[in-house]
Amino acid sequence: MTIFDSTPLQASYRQLGEPFYSDQLPTPVADPELIRVNPVLAEQLNLSADELQSAESLQIFAGNVVPNSSTPIATAYAAHQFGGWNPQLGDGRAILLGEVIGKDGQRYDIQLKGSGQTPYSRRGDGRSALGPVLREYIVSEAMAALGIPTTRALAAVTTGEQVVRESLLPGGILTRVASSHIRIGTFQFFSSREDVDAVKALADYVINRHYPQALADQSSDEPYSALLSCVVDAQARLVAHWMSVGFIHGVMNTDNMLVCGETVDYGPCAFMDTYHPQKVFSSIDTNGRYAYSNQPDIAQWNLSWLAQALLPLMGDVESEAISKAQAALGRFAKTFTETSQGLISKKLGFSKPSEQVGQLFGELLQLMAQHECDYTLTFRVIGDQLAPEDAARIPADIYTLPEVFADWIKKWHNLLASSNIEKTAAHSLMIKSNPAYIPRNHQIEAAIQQATRSGDFGLFHQLVEVLANPFEYRDENKAFSVAPKPEEEVTKTFCGT
Ligand code: AMP
Ligand code: MG
Repeated sequence: MTIFDSTPLQASYRQLGEPFYSDQLPTPVADPELIRVNPVLAEQLNLSADELQSAESLQIFAGNVVPNSSTPIATAYAAHQFGGWNPQLGDGRAILLGEVIGKDGQRYDIQLKGSGQTPYSRRGDGRSALGPVLREYIVSEAMAALGIPTTRALAAVTTGEQVVRESLLPGGILTRVASSHIRIGTFQFFSSREDVDAVKALADYVINRHYPQALADQSSDEPYSALLSCVVDAQARLVAHWMSVGFIHGVMNTDNMLVCGETVDYGPCAFMDTYHPQKVFSSIDTNGRYAYSNQPDIAQWNLSWLAQALLPLMGDVESEAISKAQAALGRFAKTFTETSQGLISKKLGFSKPSEQVGQLFGELLQLMAQHECDYTLTFRVIGDQLAPEDAARIPADIYTLPEVFADWIKKWHNLLASSNIEKTAAHSLMIKSNPAYIPRNHQIEAAIQQATRSGDFGLFHQLVEVLANPFEYRDENKAFSVAPKPEEEVTKTFCGT
């Protein structure tokens, strides 16, 4: 039995017809083995958690067997990559097996990543090395546990084959779940070909699948500007969440931004250890285009391309269409600021934003940058100052606030007091808003090295399990909350494609 026997796969995207996709079977692999499956996610997707580990399901995750109900496809898209236009991309190493309806009534894509060549592979081998598969599993599941919209990992397998990169590396395949894999670049693919009918079909599909409120909320002749507003809001909220946990996506090309507003593509991403607003990790981002603090601006630039694609649907009078698009794009700043302020306030123990809290937060960031402090642990130990006697807290041998923070801490206590906020209330808010554990690059690298060199997945499993409860500090998991020593610090990340 396989996980799809009791829940047949659906193919609503396929109904859009060609050239939205090409039919494409996965290419079988030699000798697959299961690394990890995600029973909690399976349950949420109405899939049989019991069958996840079956030998038959393994063959599906490896691409060796296609479920009876599946008509696998690779989808087409285009993109601006690092600002340069690329009219022809598409799933070069991914195959959409189909869709399922989750317990929440929403539709989810089930995709194999690393499952062989497709018509969109260009010169690529269609495969994925094991390292990036483990990295995506760890970080995407950590994001989900942090409450940040993201694609998920249902299963990871080894292929028993090697892939040729700079050296020979073991291969892997990830089974990825997303609310959909429709990208800004999917719209660009059709708009650049001036295929307005296809843009309209795609927009209608996205409204129906993700944003039915675009039909209901506004007058019915404005569904496409309403759609744009919905995507703008979703991405503004997403980037605000990234910023609040010190996440740097690293490759915010327009094909890596999903219109559903979930984080996708964990290639060169990183959570900052020491705080600096201009931090960049990706080895290929030489100009710092996707630096930490550039992320809101880049998201808006990307969204302007979605607006451009939707423009012909917003009315016959161009000037009117442009003002509608501009109004929708203009929402980004407001939604981003409101979301950020809400998140920032909670990180400091305030349930509501205020100008004083915003200022206090800015001053804290400046201190952190000046003194090269660990972003995550700084917030966490500030919260620990309000912890009741018996509460778990970050041990002093892991991290203590530098002396120079004393004045700031005094101001913060004063603002809590003058805002009539109880210490216990502030503390419980802060430990829910500031993770003790984040997927730190040096730990991800160690887990990948252990798996790649010796086939030992122990550290990988441990990391996934600890990161499933990022807000609850436990002494037995102390090692995972520690910031890297200077010699351990990973300062560069690689796409790994
Ligand atoms: P990414 O850098 O992962 O966002 O990928 C950019 C584009 O390159 C997408 O169209 C991918 O499908 C494609 N791609 C990346 N790696 C490979 C590969 N190994 N084989 C074929 N296509 C690939
Ligand atoms: Mg990508």
